[in-house]
Amino acid sequence: MSVKYDAIVVGSGPNGLAAAIRLQQSGHSVLLIEGKDQVGGGLRTSELTLPGFQHDVCSAIHPMAIHSPFLSSLPLTDFGLEYVHSAIAAAHPFDGGNAAYVTNSIGDTAKALGKDEQVYLDLIGPVIENWPFIIDNILAPLRFPAHPFKLARFGLKALRSASAIADKFSTKEGRGLWAGMAAHSIQPLTNVSTAAIGLVLSAAAHIKGWPMAKGGSQAIAHAMAAYFKHLGGTVQTGQWIQSVDELPRARALVFDVTPAQLLKIAGHRFNSFYRSQLQRYRYGMGVFKIDWALSGPIPFLAEPCRKAATVHIGGTFEEIALSESNASSGKMVDKPFVLLAQQSLFDVSRAPGGQHTAWGYCHVPNGSAADMTEVIEQQVERFAPGFKKMILARHTMNAQQMETYNPNYIGGDINGGIIDIRQLYTRPSLSLTPYRTSDKQIYICSSSTPPGGGVHGMCGYHAAQTILKDLF
Ligand SMILES: Cc1cc2nc3c(=O)[nH]c(=O)nc-3n(C[C@H](O)[C@H](O)[C@H](O)COP(=O)(O)OP(=O)(O)OC[C@H]3O[C@@H](n4cnc5c(N)ncnc54)[C@H](O)[C@@H]3O)c2cc1C
Repeated sequence: MSVKYDAIVVGSGPNGLAAAIRLQQSGHSVLLIEGKDQVGGGLRTSELTLPGFQHDVCSAIHPMAIHSPFLSSLPLTDFGLEYVHSAIAAAHPFDGGNAAYVTNSIGDTAKALGKDEQVYLDLIGPVIENWPFIIDNILAPLRFPAHPFKLARFGLKALRSASAIADKFSTKEGRGLWAGMAAHSIQPLTNVSTAAIGLVLSAAAHIKGWPMAKGGSQAIAHAMAAYFKHLGGTVQTGQWIQSVDELPRARALVFDVTPAQLLKIAGHRFNSFYRSQLQRYRYGMGVFKIDWALSGPIPFLAEPCRKAATVHIGGTFEEIALSESNASSGKMVDKPFVLLAQQSLFDVSRAPGGQHTAWGYCHVPNGSAADMTEVIEQQVERFAPGFKKMILARHTMNAQQMETYNPNYIGGDINGGIIDIRQLYTRPSLSLTPYRTSDKQIYICSSSTPPGGGVHGMCGYHAAQTILKDLF
């Protein structure tokens, strides 16, 4: 069969871009198709509020991108990508005006926790010591590790719940800081494996920081797309694929979409067992997001919060745990855990002189249409009195609108499906090669495959490696 392209990749999020690049790098001709007018998926930046204010529509902070073996192997700086760091990676304010915080020094971070200094060192230190090995395994599909005992040691801690680990800390600051880190898992903190996210993100902050892309997250997608085209790849935007049958002929068809979408696009090509696995796939909490144009920097009472690109807002461990558990069980939350980023403090290209952008979201029940503006802004005001008066304009998206914006965010789930213990390694099916489908020509490469959500491109990379082995 003569084909114009060896492979067609549908969807240009970080994983679609990574799959396309890896295949093109290996000498195969690739067509990358994107439904929207711009490539990027979760990597887009736009003037959502006022002229001159550049907001990250989805992802903002990129610890996993700089630790990604594949992304860091690409010459993306030659294609305009520059990372910007804040002095403090993440800060966590408390009532009373103080804050816990994470810098690139584990020693300084631990010391600032007072009585919890040794607990923090004992918890995060071993993760840092074994980092190359740990990152290699967590950013990959399930496989037999080169050092099973090291992995088992990490697993003993990582496969616990964040709540169980929180009990080791005795201070409000230690417990709260830990809750904020673990709540990135978008699950109740009593779930097994929520500790893993907290451990990995904390260690990542000490090793390379939590950077953002200069000019906005779109810069990562632009650099990846430019490199892909430089290799000879073809990009086609503004084309939504409704059915696999409308694609040109190619040896491999690769989808940067989640199981619910794949079923609609290609379900008729799968056998009933694979279809039933995709049908059983579960999505997690949604998000409600706000972008603000501000007349000045956020007036946080605690100084570390004014030096951090990321601020975890939610107070104590107990408050954050309650907010995550309520949202997960479908209840509304009046004091949500808010993930907030203040990019323009460290990147002046984001806002007109002296003015600022801020980005924040909280977790809500999947598919919720609730407006969380008031409760989110009240949480920020709680730790930064005067914040509300600085708002020049805001742009909001509820969980349903998130899905309208990007069909991969089913019910507002930004991780391509819940990453709980049951679905950690069964994304999207129980298989050692989860990128394959039951149709030999069709592959899936989105964050619904291992290693899951976040900007790291490793789902796309591993999908491409599988295709290279299978077909080329
Ligand atoms: C509010 C928010 C905040 C986030 N914050 C962070 C963060 O700070 N750091 C971080 O690492 N991650 C963050 N993430 C998560 C991160 O953005 C995602 O995990 C990542 O983008 C997933 O990449 P992907 O390639 O699998 O899918 P996506 O990035 O979702 O890309 C999928 C692409 O496929 C396209 N597409 C879908 N269906 C079709 C079709 N039928 N035809 C054509 N095109 C199609 C879509 O338009 C989209 O461009 C955030 C996400 C959101 C929404």
